[in-house]
Amino acid sequence: MKKTITLILALALLLFVPACGETQEQGTDTRLSIVTTLFPAYDFAREIAGERASVSLLVPPGAEAHSFEPTARDMIRIQESSLFFCNGGESEAWVEELLADQQIETLVMLDCVDALEEEIREGMQEIHEEEEEGEEGPEYDEHVWTSPVNARRICEALCERLCALDPEGEREYRANLARYAARLEELDAAFRETVESGSRRTLIFADRFPVRYFVEEYGLDYYAAFPGCADDTEPSAKTVAFLIDKVREEEIPVVFTIEFSNEKMADVICEDTGCRKLRFHSCHNVTAEELENGVSYLQLMGENVTALKEALS
Ligand SMILES: [Zn+2]
Repeated sequence: MKKTITLILALALLLFVPACGETQEQGTDTRLSIVTTLFPAYDFAREIAGERASVSLLVPPGAEAHSFEPTARDMIRIQESSLFFCNGGESEAWVEELLADQQIETLVMLDCVDALEEEIREGMQEIHEEEEEGEEGPEYDEHVWTSPVNARRICEALCERLCALDPEGEREYRANLARYAARLEELDAAFRETVESGSRRTLIFADRFPVRYFVEEYGLDYYAAFPGCADDTEPSAKTVAFLIDKVREEEIPVVFTIEFSNEKMADVICEDTGCRKLRFHSCHNVTAEELENGVSYLQLMGENVTALKEALS
């Protein structure tokens, strides 16, 4: 990995000079440029920066965010940006290597919140990843944005950073934050109300489970087939049987899948128990079509409110 990054950096530097000259000559867009890695960061940046920045998304729509590796062109975009707004964590280990070598204005979403360590729950199929030698410290769950409360903290940190980078825009950034934070608060209230009026507390994910921050925020319990960042894996018969037992025991009406799932495991569980299959958006990534249609974090999370109502009924 280290070698790959160094090579990409070398390539990026070779390309950097002409690319830089180009930008200066054009010089028409004087706005800040914010380069983001994941969809939630992209959406938050659009909301808080408004008209004062051009915002771009590195991980292509529909792509598997966990195995994303930046190209030389991506590296140039990051180097030329006014702000690199990324998620951090295991899946973005390349960011750490990039920043070790260069000074780049960066805001890391994982650093904006109280990070939770990854959790392996009863019944969850452990994924035997390659153990990296000399790896230190706890592994944090990366999916911080799945709690609307965290989303607000992230947006507040982003607003502060933008005000520092572009003091002329301070009033606008703060106004954008106030407006968006109010929407996030409404979303948060909708989730709290849904949980309070629900008749159960347990969610079943026949899938990966990238929404730990969400369940922690609202005091929900869960069972899931795989941890949040697991590679797509065939579930074992034992995992499927465990989840089927839980659905039966607690008479759970809904099993969840996440975006880009093949949903096979959920289908098996539904067939066996008669429960329903619903989508819970982790908002990790969206499809090209959704992106074109201007899908937002608030929209996807709003759909989650509706799905959650049914799952807790
Ligand atoms: Zn993930």
